[in-house]
Amino acid sequence: MRVYNTLSRQKEEFIPLEEGKVKMYVCGPTVYNLIHIGNARPMIVFDTVRRYMEYKGYEVNFVSNFTDVDDKIIKKALEEGVTAQEISQRYIAECKKDMAAMNVKPATTHPLATEEIDGMLEMISTLIEKGFAYPAADGTVYFRTRKFEEYGKLSHKNLDDLQAGHRDIKITGEEKEDSLDFVLWKPKKEGEPYWESPWCQGRPGWHIECSVMSRKYLGEEIDIHAGGEDLIFPHHENEIAQSEACNGKVFARYWIHNGFLNIDNKKMSKSLGNFFTVREISEKYDLQVLRFFMLSAHYRSPLNFSADLMEAAKNGLDRIRNGASNLKHLSKNALTEQITDQERTVLEESGRFVEKFEASMDDDFNTADGISAVFELVKYINTKTDETSSRELAEQLYQRMEQLCGILGIILEEKEEILDEEIEQLIAERQAARKEKNFARADEIRGILLERGIILEDTREGVKWKRA
Ligand code: AMP
Ligand code: ZN
Repeated sequence: MRVYNTLSRQKEEFIPLEEGKVKMYVCGPTVYNLIHIGNARPMIVFDTVRRYMEYKGYEVNFVSNFTDVDDKIIKKALEEGVTAQEISQRYIAECKKDMAAMNVKPATTHPLATEEIDGMLEMISTLIEKGFAYPAADGTVYFRTRKFEEYGKLSHKNLDDLQAGHRDIKITGEEKEDSLDFVLWKPKKEGEPYWESPWCQGRPGWHIECSVMSRKYLGEEIDIHAGGEDLIFPHHENEIAQSEACNGKVFARYWIHNGFLNIDNKKMSKSLGNFFTVREISEKYDLQVLRFFMLSAHYRSPLNFSADLMEAAKNGLDRIRNGASNLKHLSKNALTEQITDQERTVLEESGRFVEKFEASMDDDFNTADGISAVFELVKYINTKTDETSSRELAEQLYQRMEQLCGILGIILEEKEEILDEEIEQLIAERQAARKEKNFARADEIRGILLERGIILEDTREGVKWKRA
């Protein structure tokens, strides 16, 4: 298996630290809003990487955090007049629903930054002891960037160029020794959540959380660290500096980054306001279509989101699902049970598409070519099967399709349409749960309905629902 490593800017053979095991960390979202489909790209891409590794027989320890302390969360909390924790918990729950609806598997561990403060204090203290960090007079702790000689190795940036770029920027914390130094711990501001520390009452910088959570749940050295390409600098560069300065070991062997999802060829982002939430897309499409759309491009390429491309993805997915549904029909109505010798040859020959699929995925997770192999398999099946086919052949071919689509996280069977009465019944149950203040159950029911394509809207006149 070959993987493109941002560190070396080359495809490299994947060799895990421990045979048969993969330790993988993916930087997760900052939870102050519903996730947008740009955030969904790394979720879908790295879930597929994980699924492929598992298919190859690796045991994957997959850790992905939620950043639940951040300026944007605090701002939103102030706007709504609630606590930051209320905001982050709400959007973590919503994010998990979206992930389930996109068939993204839950991580082995989903750590929360606010629950790992002790580990952060410990790592910062070690960095100070080792001379890699220093507290300023106001209690801010900075990382001494120039002391880490390999700084810039991931983003391939040169420190002097970086410094030149900083020249015009006014340094607000005047106690900073060098404009390149970055924050590990910062003093609280009025009304903000804070923790006690040896330096000041305050909160951690963003980068330290991933160094700490990765070490706690995966160890000092890991195989893969991943995220969107915007994280290469400064986030991942800073993570490397912190972890390697603290632990004295190579932090991660392979750094994998997804390209950006654009809209009208412009970066989709919350700050630009040109984004769609996953929830909005789920109102128009089965989220399997979104997943299929994302995987139709190579993960490192920029991907432009458009209604046309979503339609194309929908048609492609339908073609595959029709092939699968034909096989189901054939196996249900087959006149003979056992596979014939001639059919055995058909089955064997179909293995060639599995090989093609694997070769594509082995080449830096080329899901676009993997999907082509699935299309070819479907075409082959359509020409080699008819109502005279045995049940065994139809079933075996179905399994073959299911296996490949399963690696992509694509579910072959369309969800059965949920009946109106069932919906009404679940809504009534949800109302009862809410009355009893059993919000977990109420949320669960909303999730169940969302998965079946039913969107609830709580209005003054009561609960309204519609089909996506
Ligand atoms: P954030 O919540 O902004 O920290 O982002 C969470 C994850 O989503 C990170 O891995 C980002 O790199 C990724 N991400 C954000 N926007 C996009 C986008 N438009 N396309 C692809 N990935 C994105
Ligand atoms: Zn991170």
